[in-house]
Amino acid sequence: MRHEIAPRSGVAFTLDKGQRLAVIDPQGGQVADLLAYGRADVGESLSAGRTIDYASRIYLTTGDPLYSNRSNVMLDIVEDEVGRHDFLLTPCSKEMFRIIYGDTDPHRGCFGNLAAALAPYGVSEDMIPAAFNCFMNVPVDGETGEIKVLPPLSKAGERIVFEARMDLVIGLTACSALQSNGGSFKPIAWEVS
Ligand SMILES: [Zn+2]
Repeated sequence: MRHEIAPRSGVAFTLDKGQRLAVIDPQGGQVADLLAYGRADVGESLSAGRTIDYASRIYLTTGDPLYSNRSNVMLDIVEDEVGRHDFLLTPCSKEMFRIIYGDTDPHRGCFGNLAAALAPYGVSEDMIPAAFNCFMNVPVDGETGEIKVLPPLSKAGERIVFEARMDLVIGLTACSALQSNGGSFKPIAWEVS
């Protein structure tokens, strides 16, 4: 069954070990922040630091495992039609909109959307790490380390598919930051199989 996340919003749901989660960009050029927590203990969560360390690469794609803070594999990337995602940056937030965009009345962003959606599962704000940012296009200058946030490379209907390696709670958004999404806010679709 296909679900849709409205622009600038987020959801949380459970994913069983062995199930596959497809994250789909229905219109193209839209980022989706993905978080994962161990269902047995939400103190275990997705770790960008450990995953990048073990992969020795910052760009992850088909065949790459995503590790937890306890170095267990939470998800495997089993299909990737886009090939460019970010795992460096934290979910956009009220504070980020204030600091980077200068917004005086900022949106709660992916951070606020994730915190609200994950609260019923026992996840608090301080338990939200850097997300796996599906379709987010963050090129890095190899010499200086300077990063840019460019429009996603995803085209309408393209997807990335993950397989759960443990029972999980998933948080997923349609990202709320203009720069990350090529200047417009669009929906995200997801399917579990
Ligand atoms: Zn966002």
